[in-house]
Amino acid sequence: MLALLSRLRGIPDCLLCNGAGDGSLPICHACENELPWLGAHCDICAVPLPERGLVCGQCLRRPPAFARVEAPWRYGFPVDGLITRFKHQARWPLGRLLADLLAQHLQHAYSEGLPKPDLLVPVPLSRKRLRERSFNQAEMLSGWLAHSLNLAHDTRWLLRPQDTAHQQDLDAVARQRNLRRAFALSSRAQVQGRHLALVDDVLTTGATAEAIARLLRKAGAERVDIYCLARTPKPGEH
Ligand SMILES: [Zn+2]
Ligand SMILES: [Zn+2]
Repeated sequence: MLALLSRLRGIPDCLLCNGAGDGSLPICHACENELPWLGAHCDICAVPLPERGLVCGQCLRRPPAFARVEAPWRYGFPVDGLITRFKHQARWPLGRLLADLLAQHLQHAYSEGLPKPDLLVPVPLSRKRLRERSFNQAEMLSGWLAHSLNLAHDTRWLLRPQDTAHQQDLDAVARQRNLRRAFALSSRAQVQGRHLALVDDVLTTGATAEAIARLLRKAGAERVDIYCLARTPKPGEH
């Protein structure tokens, strides 16, 4: 009944519980409150930490090439499942909802002083993965964010010239070597002096983000931020 009433008023139903929505986005307040909001995290890489305003040991020892990771959620229930359904079952409305909530998170961060980037660039997918999936989820997120935040985005600056081995199968050193070779800049990329934000769905080890941020900084980018939906805790933590 409630769902019917809100539909009549043009308010979309909640995509998570199918109940009545109560805002402009297809999610109800109860479901939104239960999302795994990130909480206290490293000021640079956004890894969950017990207290606010700290930088994690890893970022202190080896400051990354990116300035900041912005992520609204920890990678946990139900966001993990929502991202999987968006990515592997092509559930666009779920992806769109997550992108809109990320846009709200970023809008808030801008109002608190986070500098706005000149351009959004999605992490490119390998050709093999693109064939399997037929779309790049990072590119779709970046497009939706660009639209909501009124930012430019370019899907052709970053290239993935060769298909690299699955990262999961490699040790840490081989991973880094593998990643350094995986990405390249297209000749159309005008990186010099620009502030760029790299868009991906989930930040796990941060190695991909670091490899691309380093490539962009080397080419003259003034600052690189990372925008993603969810951040995984350090292995073994919750
Ligand atoms: Zn709901
Ligand atoms: Zn950190």
